[in-house]
Amino acid sequence: MKTAHRNQRLTLLVLRDAQHSVKQFHLSKPLMIAVPAAAVLSIAGLIVSLQIQSAQTISNLEQQLTLKSLEALKMEVTVSDKDEAIERLNKAIIQLSGEAEETKAQMERVQQLEQQLQQFIEKHGSLSSTPTSSASDEGQLHVGGEFIAVHENEMLNLASDIRDDFEEMQQLLSQLERHIPRTLDQAQETQERREGLPSLWPTESRRLTSSFGYRSDPFTGRSAYHAGIDIAGKVGDPIYAAGSGKVTAAERSGARGLYIVIKHPNGLETWYMHLNKLSVSVGDQVAQGEIIGQLGSTGRSTGPHLHFQVVKNDETVDPMRYVQ
Ligand SMILES: [Zn+2]
Repeated sequence: MKTAHRNQRLTLLVLRDAQHSVKQFHLSKPLMIAVPAAAVLSIAGLIVSLQIQSAQTISNLEQQLTLKSLEALKMEVTVSDKDEAIERLNKAIIQLSGEAEETKAQMERVQQLEQQLQQFIEKHGSLSSTPTSSASDEGQLHVGGEFIAVHENEMLNLASDIRDDFEEMQQLLSQLERHIPRTLDQAQETQERREGLPSLWPTESRRLTSSFGYRSDPFTGRSAYHAGIDIAGKVGDPIYAAGSGKVTAAERSGARGLYIVIKHPNGLETWYMHLNKLSVSVGDQVAQGEIIGQLGSTGRSTGPHLHFQVVKNDETVDPMRYVQ
C-alpha cells in the first residue's frame, strides 16, 4: 500500500497481486483521523469527567458509557476496513447521542421533581407523594422515515453536540448534588415535625367511653367539662406515645393517678392518665409509637381506661382533631 499527500487529501493505492487491478481510494485526511479520534476522545473525556459526579444515576450512566467506549475502541482495533469502522463508530455516536438526550431529559425530570418536592415542603410543610411526570416512550417503538446518508462533518458536529449535552448534564448533576441534600434535610425536618404531631392512637383498644367536652360526671352525675377522651381497655394494655417528644411529667397525683405528659413541637402536649405502670421518666425523649406505660385504673377512675388529652398552648383541645 502506498499513500500520496496532495491538497490535504489522502489517496490510498491498494496493490495486491498481479491478477488484481490497483484500487484507489480518495479520503480526506483530517476527517479520516478526526472523526474516530474526536468521537473516542469525547466519549473517553465524558467518562472521566462523569466519574467525578456522584450517586447512582451517574454510576449507571458510567457503566453504559464504559461499554460504549470499549465497543468503539474494540471496533477500531479489530476492523481493518476503515470505512466500515467509521460507519460503525458513527452509529455508536448516534446511539450515544440518543442516550445522552434521553438521560438529559431524565435528569431534567428529576430536577423538576426535586423542585416540586421543595415547593411542596415550603407550601404544606408536610410530605406526601408527588405526581411524577411520565415520559412517553412510544417514539422508541414506532420509527421510520426515509434514509438520509450521514456525512462525516455531521458526525463531528454530532460528537460535539453530545459533549455539550454531557456538559449540561454535569451542570445539572452538580446542581442536584447541592440541592438534594438540602431538600432531604428539609424533608427530614418536616418528617420530624409530623412525627411530633400527636396523630397516633395511644392504645390497643378503640372503645371510646367518653368524648371531649361537656358531659355528666360519672361520679356526681352533675354536668362537667371533660378535658380529654376516655378509651376503655384492659389493665396492662400498652400505652403508646401519640407523637415524638419529651416527657415533662411521669408521676402519681390524686385524681390523675399515674400519669404522663409529653411535650411535642408547636406548643402541643399529650396527657395520659389513670395508668397502671409508667415506663418513662421525666426528661426522656420518646418516639412516636414508643410504649410509655400500661393502661390502668388509678386515680379518679371507675374502671380500666386511658384518659387521653391534648393541650395546645395551655388549652385543652379535642384529641379527635389529632389522633387517627
Ligand atoms: Zn377522662
